Amino acid sequence: MDKIVSLCKRRGFIFQGSDMYGGLAGTWDFGPLGVALKNNIKRLWWERFVIRRMDMFGVESAILMNPKVWEASGHVATFTDPLIDCKKCKGRFRADAIDSTKECPNCGAHDFTHARPFNMMFKTHAGPVEDSGSCVYLRPETAQGMFTNFKNVIDAFHPKLPFGLVQIGKAFRNEITPGNFIFRSREFEQMEIEYFVRESEWEKHFDIWRGEMRDWMTAVGITAFYEREVSGDALAHYSKRTVDIDYEFPFGREELYGIAYRTDFDLKNHAEYSKIDLSYVEDDGSKYTPHVIEPTFGVERTVLALLVSAYEEEKLEKETRTVLKFKPCIAPVTVAVFPLVANKEGIVGKAKEIYDSMRIHFVVQFDDIGNVGKRYRRQDEIGTPWCVTVDYQTLEDGTVTIRDLDTMKQERVIATELIANIKERLKG
Ligand code: ATP
Repeated sequence: MDKIVSLCKRRGFIFQGSDMYGGLAGTWDFGPLGVALKNNIKRLWWERFVIRRMDMFGVESAILMNPKVWEASGHVATFTDPLIDCKKCKGRFRADAIDSTKECPNCGAHDFTHARPFNMMFKTHAGPVEDSGSCVYLRPETAQGMFTNFKNVIDAFHPKLPFGLVQIGKAFRNEITPGNFIFRSREFEQMEIEYFVRESEWEKHFDIWRGEMRDWMTAVGITAFYEREVSGDALAHYSKRTVDIDYEFPFGREELYGIAYRTDFDLKNHAEYSKIDLSYVEDDGSKYTPHVIEPTFGVERTVLALLVSAYEEEKLEKETRTVLKFKPCIAPVTVAVFPLVANKEGIVGKAKEIYDSMRIHFVVQFDDIGNVGKRYRRQDEIGTPWCVTVDYQTLEDGTVTIRDLDTMKQERVIATELIANIKERLKG
């Protein structure tokens, strides 16, 4: 894990939030490559689950919502983690994350308080007066923005069941113990789907969405995931069935995504609290509250799972190469262009020309620092699938070499056919 964290910092993927002021626990900043990786994840996800389907409706709701939303959803009352304190060092822990019959992991004492519920919603104030009437929460999940827009979308688009509302956006949780790099942070992004179904069909759709989630993971290159039935106290207050999808992170097998059957809990409660009818009307005039299947995906946990899945150290003849074997669709940089030498005008000019022509099609990096071997190693470390080198032969016959990240094999291709060639490779 340390190797991935240090690679992320060194190569400009992820930095500690507010780093120059000593950081702020549980916050992370994404550098140029991290943003590119995140954007690829979100774009592919949106294409797959919204653009290519007829039954899905994208929304982007406000992060700040009327506090009644969180009363109706049950979050004010129950969005809590059990908190215990070490009386000696004042360390605070999630009671379910440590064994309180043993020593404090900070100071070794054995003197804990009883566990008490700690609400994880961040509070702030809307407007200039900081009294209880102005209290608002930063949303701890994007889901509620879909339920509160359920009627707006029905009235505007008249969708037929089953259909889904979809949103990508920030969520905030005052985690007691953020940690494990970006795995548990206090500010993160979610990609969530609320898929509305007839009650009698929930099991069918639950299984279909489990399959969709597996297909997504395979498509982006997340290997080694495990589905786990959540039961008993671990079930969220709104859920009748939840399956968590765990991933083998370097610090242990932990939740990557989840899929929950939220019943009609949310719509019913919002109808009751707002006094607005949220029922669905069938063609025959019958009315009822739809039930909901919720597949939920964390963006940062996707980033981390992809980094872990892609990270490899390969022994070469004289060195070890560190490589991120991203799928080309996910890689932050698709192509790197090198002039073989940095001081031959013809070669540099041609390389710049190729670089310019490709930039409107792909994310491309130009690199003329150091020798080609070093440039390959740099691109290996950030997972660039293809490196194009312009050399002396290019000036003679118009061909360049294209080198593949996985196989490290080079092929000569005609420079004017490069764009079509790479587009073809991207399809595979
Ligand atoms: P955990 O048990 O790890 O606290 P959770 O069950 O509370 O997670 P959900 O409420 O199901 O998580 O949130 C949906 C998704 O949002 C999770 O599957 C995860 O991908 C992501 N997520 C939740 N909490 C965090 C966090 N603190 N930091 C980063 N991602 C998170």
